[in-house]
Amino acid sequence: MVREAIDGIPEKNVPRVLWAGAGFLFLMVCQSGLRYVWRMYLMGTSHRIARGLRLDLYNHLQNLPLARYQTIRTGDLMSRATNDIQAIREAVGPGVLITVDAIISFLIFVPVMLYLSVKLTILALLFAPLVPWITTTVGDRIDRLFESMQVKMSNISAFTQETFGGIRLIKSLVLENRVRQRFFDLSEEYQEEGIRMASCEARFTPSLTVLTHLGLFMILIVGGMDVINGAITVGTFVAFQRFVVQLSWPMEAIGWAVTMSREGVAAHRRLQQILGIPQVTSVRTPAVERKEAPLLEINHLHHAYESNGDGDHFGLKLSHLKVHEGQKIGVVGPVGAGKSTLFNLIVRLYEPPEETVFFEGKDVASIPLVELRRKISTVEQQVFLFSEKVTTNIELGMPGSVDGQEARKVIRTVCMEDEIEELHDKYDTYLGERGVNLSGGQKQRLALARALIRKPRLLLLDDAFSAVDVEIERRILRNLLTEYPDLTLIFASHRLSIMPSLDEIWILDKGKLVAKGHHQQLLQSVSLYGALWQTSERSLESRKDSLEADSIL
Ligand code: ADP
Repeated sequence: MVREAIDGIPEKNVPRVLWAGAGFLFLMVCQSGLRYVWRMYLMGTSHRIARGLRLDLYNHLQNLPLARYQTIRTGDLMSRATNDIQAIREAVGPGVLITVDAIISFLIFVPVMLYLSVKLTILALLFAPLVPWITTTVGDRIDRLFESMQVKMSNISAFTQETFGGIRLIKSLVLENRVRQRFFDLSEEYQEEGIRMASCEARFTPSLTVLTHLGLFMILIVGGMDVINGAITVGTFVAFQRFVVQLSWPMEAIGWAVTMSREGVAAHRRLQQILGIPQVTSVRTPAVERKEAPLLEINHLHHAYESNGDGDHFGLKLSHLKVHEGQKIGVVGPVGAGKSTLFNLIVRLYEPPEETVFFEGKDVASIPLVELRRKISTVEQQVFLFSEKVTTNIELGMPGSVDGQEARKVIRTVCMEDEIEELHDKYDTYLGERGVNLSGGQKQRLALARALIRKPRLLLLDDAFSAVDVEIERRILRNLLTEYPDLTLIFASHRLSIMPSLDEIWILDKGKLVAKGHHQQLLQSVSLYGALWQTSERSLESRKDSLEADSIL
């Protein structure tokens, strides 16, 4: 159209010039319309892809084995879930868009240029073969630099998350200056890598532009001579110039597209490092039911944690243990004896070997995790409550809503009725960051209420009353026995005050069962139990003394 208009000028051919102008306008409108459509389509798709990836990552993370979470830093994960997914989105959105744009421009411009002049087309594209060489070389460097930048950003994110997670400790030990300096160092490392990346990118796009401009230079000289010699018209010459100038956009665009796609590839690799970790399989072996089996049976259970290379690491070895329906079992032993490990293996937070832990006559490995954890509830010493209402915290983990009567029953059992009545909005009071903060003992009792409302068949209490008063602990146990007579209970505790009321006590030491039996029997025959009992009683006495001293003061 440009050629038509220019060549019409010396002829003073007004219709030719006007038609060419109208055609030009029409083509511009078509180009803009098409660009709008594919931009919308590609950008929308990139957002859908990012959302899909985010969901995949989140679901995957929820199903990793417990041991894996100990090796992954939360801040690092947050960085991957945000920055890396954003980089992938840019590669599949703007990155693909620019590539498609560049390819279409080439496919349209080059044939028209060939039609106008084969010789000039060859000259204009003389340096184009250098493009793949430059893009691959620089692309590899961008890939490496970007991955290193993302690792450094992950370090910043993990450090920030850890420092604010442990802000109480930082303030109490006056570590503010130390963490500030560390944060400064990490930020500087990231900045240095960012500057390296910027200088790499800064050389990349202009070097591609130089190649197109070299083409333009050839056209000016050779095309100019052709016009002088009458080989081509001025219109063809000007039209050709326009094409070459327009080609410089796709050439620059290749630079951006390569940068974004290589960044996307590096980000995807980082995401795959997480997505590649095998998930916990809900059912590991086919179910075989043993008739008339006890509720829980442990059979030659051996478990060792992954060694960290120091040789002497903990191993749990239990030959044969049974828990019948309705039994109340106590588990005692020094710190590190393996009580929590045993509980974690029963609910498969750590995977026990096959045919070693049986629940309701079935190997736990054959029971779907949802079913297993619905029937067995665990309350741990460290309690996590959400910044939600009291009722929401109690109802957690219950499919559907819980009726008020049931909620009151569990609260009565854990002796918290009066305390909740005293709260500002009673059962609707918000806890945690958005509301009141409960004491350690109250949190533990609320966690017990949360476990009880699920009506488990087996309740595992792992030092769950460590912050609860002995008197309240006794009352709770009494309530448990009257309100839930059929409940089977395994109660691990470093405080032995309620052991005399339990049906059987297992004594663990260094991962092995030392003895089992009733309180009186163990007190007379097992020295370790005697020693643990003495320590527990002594700590109770000293606690009573300090309470009395407090009241006198
Ligand atoms: P207890 O509950 O009786 O205090 P645990 O079962 O928590 O004992 O721990 C038993 C031993 O296993 C300890 O020596 C502890 O250091 C080790 N241990 C616990 N959890 C892990 C883990 N995730 N990785 C490696 N060792 C662990």
